[in-house]
Amino acid sequence: PPSLEVRGLAYAYPDGTQALYGVDVTIRRGERVALLGPNGAGKTTLVLHLNGILHGGAGTVRVAGLEVDPADKRTLREIRRRVGIVFQDPDDQLFMPTVREDVAFGPAAMGLRGAELDRRVRDALERVGMLEAADRPPQHLSFGQRRRVAVATVLAMEPEILVLDEPSSNLDPASRRELAEILRSLDVTVLMVTHDLPYAAELCPRSLILSGGVIAADAPTLDLLSDA
Ligand code: ADP
Ligand code: ADP
Repeated sequence: PPSLEVRGLAYAYPDGTQALYGVDVTIRRGERVALLGPNGAGKTTLVLHLNGILHGGAGTVRVAGLEVDPADKRTLREIRRRVGIVFQDPDDQLFMPTVREDVAFGPAAMGLRGAELDRRVRDALERVGMLEAADRPPQHLSFGQRRRVAVATVLAMEPEILVLDEPSSNLDPASRRELAEILRSLDVTVLMVTHDLPYAAELCPRSLILSGGVIAADAPTLDLLSDA
């Protein structure tokens, strides 16, 4: 099955604001896709449906073939482990005394222990080039390094799909390039919410434009860039 399959997703907030009107999206395994669109377009609302934080509207969301159904707690737990969300602010994601403990937190909560847990932590930190920082407190790292560790905390869960909210925000040019290289090197499905069209073009062959709660475009990113 595809990593993500969204069909006819419509959602209104309790105050009546209609945020999504029948969104359809399929993302195949291993694709990297950018989600673009103006403020208020519904990007956050869509992302919060991917792991069932928001629900109750119309339509369906499937992650690796599993349907998000708030009544099915077991499947929902499985989906939450498969949808890895990297928040815009790494400091929302890092709260332990050391980098190692932050990266171990998710897999430990899944019940992993011992050698398997150590392997997860080491692999995830290696993939973002932060293994040497394992025993340091996250607060002692630069912002760009903290963002990479935040990515590692999610990779350690071995997600089906990695969702990144504005991954290039507040990065200096060197950190931007570093993170782009890391993201390109991962063999995981990526959905990247961003306003940074050059970054999207660099990383994501395909882009979705969400506008007013509908998918206004689904096209090769380079086509959108030449239209802009
Ligand atoms: P984006 O992430 O693209 O900026 P959002 O998904 O945050 O867009 O918002 C989509 C629409 O839903 C906007 O009209 C926004 O004002 C509205 N909205 C977002 N969150 C809430 C909420 N908690 N209650 C009511 N309306 C909301
Ligand atoms: P972003 O651009 O990151 O999506 P937003 O400005 O859309 O940020 O939303 C910031 C926060 O405010 C979110 O938690 C969103 O749910 C909430 N929010 C946005 N619009 C509304 C609204 N009309 N009523 C209530 N909450 C809202």
